[in-house]
Amino acid sequence: MKVFTTIAEVPLPTVRRALVPTMGALHEGHLSLVRRAKELGQEVAVSIFVNPTQFGPNEDYLRYPRPLERDLELCEREGVDFVFAPSVEEMYSPSPAKVQVPLVTEEFEGKLRPGHFDGVATVVAKLFGILRPDVAVFGLKDLQQCAVIQKLVNDLNLRVELAFEPTLREDSGLARSSRNVYLSDEERKVSAQIYQSLRKCRLAVLEDRDAEETIQEEISSLEAVGFKVQYLEWIDRSTFHSTRTNKENGAIVFAGYLGNTRLIDNILITA
Ligand code: AMP
Repeated sequence: MKVFTTIAEVPLPTVRRALVPTMGALHEGHLSLVRRAKELGQEVAVSIFVNPTQFGPNEDYLRYPRPLERDLELCEREGVDFVFAPSVEEMYSPSPAKVQVPLVTEEFEGKLRPGHFDGVATVVAKLFGILRPDVAVFGLKDLQQCAVIQKLVNDLNLRVELAFEPTLREDSGLARSSRNVYLSDEERKVSAQIYQSLRKCRLAVLEDRDAEETIQEEISSLEAVGFKVQYLEWIDRSTFHSTRTNKENGAIVFAGYLGNTRLIDNILITA
């Protein structure tokens, strides 16, 4: 497996290239994307870059885990062809151009984390430019990010196919995340309740019960076990605005804090 740290080293594709963009601290969720990438492309590239422009000033950029050696071992074991792991200086000039994606960034993560999706859209556009993948694989775990990237590719006519893959969970139902390392044992147990609440809300929608009431009940029960809920909402995936009607393209999305750790998760109404 090759490891490139500069843009100039990255070869142009000669076979169908599948890219899995990550910020490292790889876990089974990331590896499930790598396995999908192996099915979709003849060559698999993983990028590992903790992208500073997608972190807000009070977020965890500096303390975000960076176990690069371990990540490289995992990639090697999965049969990844090459890893692209550039420095911040390699990726950004002093006054860099940036990409903005409207509409789907107006609410939820876009509202709570100003500038976050500008950072995401910009780095993804750059990675597509550097690595020239035929197909790129992303996780539905970051559902709004998927909507942003789909719109980025559509609106800028980027010739990259996209694959969005299901969220890998622990047995408890907790979505795997690099940020789970911040959780204490007790918090990890409590975190299992996020998925239970998402499932209850989804069921209420599917059974045409009062979704509003169920959502409010679930917010209360999450807060009762220690969460500070930022949102628990039924959304339309095409606009990423709230909905009370769209089941077909709908999802329930959650974000909240448990102690100092911010967790997000979601469930599709119809999978
Ligand atoms: P990150 O390193 O957190 O930026 O994530 C890199 C990619 O892995 C993104 O496309 C995420 O949506 C995806 N991902 C993160 N957690 C999971 C998970 N539990 N299951 C599947 N994909 C995931």
